[in-house]
Amino acid sequence: MLDNAGIPCFVKNEFAIGGIGDLAPFDCLPEVWLADEEWEPKAKRLLKELLEQNHGEEDWFCPFCKEKNAASFEICWNCGKEST
Ligand SMILES: [Zn+2]
Repeated sequence: MLDNAGIPCFVKNEFAIGGIGDLAPFDCLPEVWLADEEWEPKAKRLLKELLEQNHGEEDWFCPFCKEKNAASFEICWNCGKEST
């Protein structure tokens, strides 16, 4: 996402996931590093916008089986039909 916005950054630990052994899993999670800290306010604003976007979506009810589905689901978790 930051790449799309033209913010220079890189992901650290992206390939460390295969190296989990003695390391705590937390240490192996990918981290995003900005190339320059002057980008931080813009990056944070973008992240906030992204979070708010996701939060703004509402749960929906499947018209076929009436099950409640989270907004992030494009198909019903219960019967597999698409939302309308
Ligand atoms: Zn359904």
